[in-house]
Amino acid sequence: MDLNYSPEETAFRDRVRDWLHENLPTDLRDKVSNYRELSREDLIGWHKTLARQGWVAPEWPVEYGGTDWSVVERYIFEEEMGYAGCPPLVPFGLRMCAPVLFRFGTDAQKQRFLPRIYQGDDFWCQGYSEPGSGSDLASLKTRAVRQGDHYVVTGQKIWTTLAHYADWIFCLVRTDASQSKRQEGISFLLIDMKTPGITVRPIILMDGGHDVNEVFFDDVTVPVENLVHEEGKGWTVAKYLLGHERMGTGRVGQSKRELQQLKEVATQHLKDGRPLIEDARFRDRLTRVEVELMALEITNLRFLDQLRGGRPPGAEVSMLKIKGTEIQQSISELMMQAAGPFAQAFRPVDNMDFDHFTARLAARYCNMRKTSIYAGSNEIQRNIIAKATLGL
Ligand SMILES: Cc1cc2nc3c(=O)[nH]c(=O)nc-3n(C[C@H](O)[C@H](O)[C@H](O)COP(=O)(O)OP(=O)(O)OC[C@H]3O[C@@H](n4cnc5c(N)ncnc54)[C@H](O)[C@@H]3O)c2cc1C
Repeated sequence: MDLNYSPEETAFRDRVRDWLHENLPTDLRDKVSNYRELSREDLIGWHKTLARQGWVAPEWPVEYGGTDWSVVERYIFEEEMGYAGCPPLVPFGLRMCAPVLFRFGTDAQKQRFLPRIYQGDDFWCQGYSEPGSGSDLASLKTRAVRQGDHYVVTGQKIWTTLAHYADWIFCLVRTDASQSKRQEGISFLLIDMKTPGITVRPIILMDGGHDVNEVFFDDVTVPVENLVHEEGKGWTVAKYLLGHERMGTGRVGQSKRELQQLKEVATQHLKDGRPLIEDARFRDRLTRVEVELMALEITNLRFLDQLRGGRPPGAEVSMLKIKGTEIQQSISELMMQAAGPFAQAFRPVDNMDFDHFTARLAARYCNMRKTSIYAGSNEIQRNIIAKATLGL
């Protein structure tokens, strides 16, 4: 097994690094590094910059704009973006809906939606979860009744990330409630968010931010041509998509950058008159996270080596999700410890410096709790690993 980059891969990394250095706007990088909320324009603007460079969808087939990079080059690109402090590429169109369309879409659906996803003309969101149907997704109740050449959709989705920015939503809906097996009778629909009968209601998370929403459907008319794959076979589509969702939740590059920031904060802030970074107990916790991050990176590279050899990843994707999100959470905890009272956003007073970075840390800590819940909670990921390795 070779876990080192080849000279060509190192040259590729340098090329990506230089390009990001020249093309990532400073204000955007500062927003990301300071954990400030990104607007629709921020997200789309960065998407379009990458689309112009031809780098927005490396994993897509070349005829649709893919780069034909190796898996290692794709990984390097991903990590460099995280390390540089780029805004995240919103995955719902690029990495969820598009792979589904490549695999299950009609030619007409591919022609209509894929170029617009690539260019960032349509903003997508994911309508899977419902109240009471998160981990137990197959119990979903949103109903779609066929009436001639359209479906009428009624029900509710919840935790829909960025639905307030979205032009389109892909949804799992129940088209046949009479099936004894709950996974059957579910269909996958593409729904225009401007259709009458759709209401988006914000859910404000405990960090005060607006990421997620409730989405209500009241007799929403959806043309039958927006059905992906066969009616009643949406569960096959759903499972295919979830595999894609869990790839890339490790976020090694982002965690490396944050670890660096953590060290800086711990160097500036004092405990008993000495920089916190010199405190043995703090160093112990910091080092543990750093070692875990190194182990995650090596695990990532190990999987890449398998992929290079043509072996697709299986349940191990769940391992990356669990460890990656635990590390992100640990870093946010240590940041709080390092910044102490400065981690709270308070009004600056005359004799006190106001640090915009540390003032966002308490909110960041709260926000990071989500990572072990979304994209399938970490408990569910452990069940997947247990099933795959122990056959439970
Ligand atoms: C910030 C955020 C963004 C999200 N974005 C989206 C989105 O864009 N689109 C979308 O469709 N959904 C989204 N979700 C929803 C997410 O997928 C669900 O929250 C998640 O699947 C958990 O479902 P639930 O909330 O219903 O909790 P539940 O399934 O009720 O779980 C509650 C607790 O019980 C545990 N649990 C449940 N079943 C088991 C089991 N069998 N074994 C062991 N433990 C179990 C869970 O791990 C969890 O700790 C988002 C969630 C969050 C927090």
